[in-house]
Amino acid sequence: MKRLTSDLAVFGGPVEFADVLHVGQINIPEKERFEAIFSGIFSRRYYTNHGPLQQELEVRLEDLFRVRNAIAVTNATIGLMLACKALGLREGGRVIVPAFTFAASVQALSWAGLMPLFCDVDPDTHVLSVESVRAALEEPGVCAILGVHLWGTPCGVEELRRLADERGIKVFYDAAHAIGNTINGLSVGNFGDLEVFSFHATKIFSSGEGGCVTTNDDELAERLRNLRSSYGRRMDVPVPIGGYGRFSEAQAALGLLSLEDFAANCEMNGRRFGRYRERLADVPGLRFILPPAGERSNSQYVVLEVDEALFGLSRDAIVKCLQRENILCRRYFTPGMHRCLPYSSELPQYVESLPVTDFLCSRVMQLPSGQQMDDNKIDAVCDLIIFLHENAENIAGRLCEQQ
Ligand SMILES: *Cc1c(COP(=O)(O)O)cnc(C)c1O
Repeated sequence: MKRLTSDLAVFGGPVEFADVLHVGQINIPEKERFEAIFSGIFSRRYYTNHGPLQQELEVRLEDLFRVRNAIAVTNATIGLMLACKALGLREGGRVIVPAFTFAASVQALSWAGLMPLFCDVDPDTHVLSVESVRAALEEPGVCAILGVHLWGTPCGVEELRRLADERGIKVFYDAAHAIGNTINGLSVGNFGDLEVFSFHATKIFSSGEGGCVTTNDDELAERLRNLRSSYGRRMDVPVPIGGYGRFSEAQAALGLLSLEDFAANCEMNGRRFGRYRERLADVPGLRFILPPAGERSNSQYVVLEVDEALFGLSRDAIVKCLQRENILCRRYFTPGMHRCLPYSSELPQYVESLPVTDFLCSRVMQLPSGQQMDDNKIDAVCDLIIFLHENAENIAGRLCEQQ
């Protein structure tokens, strides 16, 4: 417990946590379960190419999402690249996408030969603003909308569907954050022409590396399977180019274990999130980004906006102080993709065009959750944040002197 500002690690005090607390924790299964499922892989001597574990996982994912097709792929980035080809998006086309997202959402478009058309996001929900999408649709050469369900918060799927249909263009989603979440009670995975999930180690559902594409359109699904490789396709259908985004048995094994733990991990995350909210409820200048009321949510992302004027310290100052205590909170996502190379130089027209994105990039931070946290650790993190607020003026002055 810190009493004086000099107790803060940033000013030379003792570090609060001996072990670092990460955002995006790996939720590891018990070793016995891991060994049992991997011994099956070794005895079958079958490592990849649409093996039995992959087939089982795909069926289980279709059940989880209640979707007709789940196509497992190497990772979400490759899933997005294959998706662009499966959707028939021609090279040189422009795709509406938020700049406030993980780099891969945008970079996958570039790999597919497409150009991002950056749109701003909604200040409350952090997902694509329907208003700015409507305006962007007036520009020439738009062939698709790629929405991102950021922090698991759903995009305005009905509105975007309608706008896309009016113009005869595609709409698809980066659902990397939204596994297990619902929109109007229906699982994410059922919206747009297709949706892409990530099973990266930092996601709540993990196969180490991995991902899947989901769609209720069987023809589109068959193109995706053919793009992925000849293994696992049901029919031979023409595709523009092979993608080889295969999914190995080792990935499938980890995925099956993660699926068994999925409900419990969501529940655990929900409790962690609730504890943070409860403990920080009265701290001025902090706003949690919450899932929509009445929907299911994996609660994987404990995301806050910091209002410096009310809290007394900037987001960057808070992050600096917490990181020195081994609380590796993150400034996700900073800067926006419109300010990152190559886009800031190739598409300079967007650099000053996304005020909400820039605003959020300066205020958003993410706190650690998952298996490695517990109530005591969350309380200690919250006590520190409260301490930072209560001593904000003094701390801000000392941080200034340090520079
Ligand atoms: C993790 C993530 C990705 C990339 O997923 P990979 O499986 O690592 O390729 C894409 N978009 C978002 C929003 C992500 O968080």
